Amino acid sequence: MKNPVKTILGLGILAVLCFYGWRYQTQGILFDESGISGQFETILDDVLDRNGVGESDVLKTQRREIKKDVPLPTLWIETERSVRLSPTIVLNDIIQALERSGIPLKMKVLSRNSRSGSTIVELGKKKNQVFQRIIFLTSGKKQSPSAQGRGGAVTIVIDDLAGRLSDIENLEKFFALNVPITYAVLPQEKMSRAISEKIHANGQEIILHQPMEPEDIQHNDPGGATLLVSMSEPEIQSRLKKNLQSVPYALGISNHMGSRFTADEKAMKIFLNSLKAFSKSNPLREDLFFFDSRTSPKSVARKTSLSLRVPYQVNDIFLDDQDDLATIKKQIQQLKKEVRRKGHGIAIGHIQRGHLLQALSETIPEFHKEGIEFVPLSQLIRSPQ
Ligand SMILES: [Zn+2]
Repeated sequence: MKNPVKTILGLGILAVLCFYGWRYQTQGILFDESGISGQFETILDDVLDRNGVGESDVLKTQRREIKKDVPLPTLWIETERSVRLSPTIVLNDIIQALERSGIPLKMKVLSRNSRSGSTIVELGKKKNQVFQRIIFLTSGKKQSPSAQGRGGAVTIVIDDLAGRLSDIENLEKFFALNVPITYAVLPQEKMSRAISEKIHANGQEIILHQPMEPEDIQHNDPGGATLLVSMSEPEIQSRLKKNLQSVPYALGISNHMGSRFTADEKAMKIFLNSLKAFSKSNPLREDLFFFDSRTSPKSVARKTSLSLRVPYQVNDIFLDDQDDLATIKKQIQQLKKEVRRKGHGIAIGHIQRGHLLQALSETIPEFHKEGIEFVPLSQLIRSPQ
């Protein structure tokens, strides 16, 4: 005897097959996702709007119909828009909001690529199915630092954050200087995450201050998060990953100590390849850069970054190796000379030093007077060509 449930089920399946067959015959596709494309676009409009990107900041919008096997023949609308980003908006915040908003529709951030003056973010279901491409134009970033202020651009990096409990309080005083500063946060410390959150909430830039093996490790042990030249590739990879996870929002990595490690070509190659691998698997951390603190004149960071195509930059000057006001001010004058000479300059200071803050607050007006602009480190990073 025939089972009526089976019959109905059979007819149902047949109807569905007929529908898809008809669609495939007439339109050449099996799935039509143009509806969901529109839905997603509306959601993103809303997210951009809520994050301070108004209608007038959207310079161009283009939509095109895509028919592609992904792997089955599917139709959807790909929207590309160019968006102007004012300097007060934190790109990472927007990207994270975009990512969250896509979850109900199973959309995610597929890639994030920074070029000179722009960051391109792609969102969609999978690598070969992009629904939304947003080109954030970040006003001449990275291209010609000297054109940024009349008199050039200067970056201050404050090192060794999260090492001491007092760092959180001191941070407030640096925020009060009211110029963009980049903060290098030590990983795996009790306060690494809280400090990173605080810096991020204040709209300032963060890098991971990665401890690396120094020449005299017997007297200067940089602790358990350190990369050593004797480590294997998997060891370096997993330690770096753990460290990056403990410092959220980090856009790049600098070395803490590391006079031995940064001078070792084999170790640096493994490290930079691990950095690239991490970047690749984390769209929100794409384009992580390496900033060489330059603790050794024998550093091979420049050479290896170039050959492995890792965005790179190097420190020009340490401000407070000697912690007295007159010396620090002298170093700051040296930094200004550097800016005049090549259009930009980068200096490292330390959160715990007693006189740095005063020296900076007394000299920052001089930079302004000469038309030198303070910029976060990411704006001076050289992208591999
Ligand atoms: Zn350090």
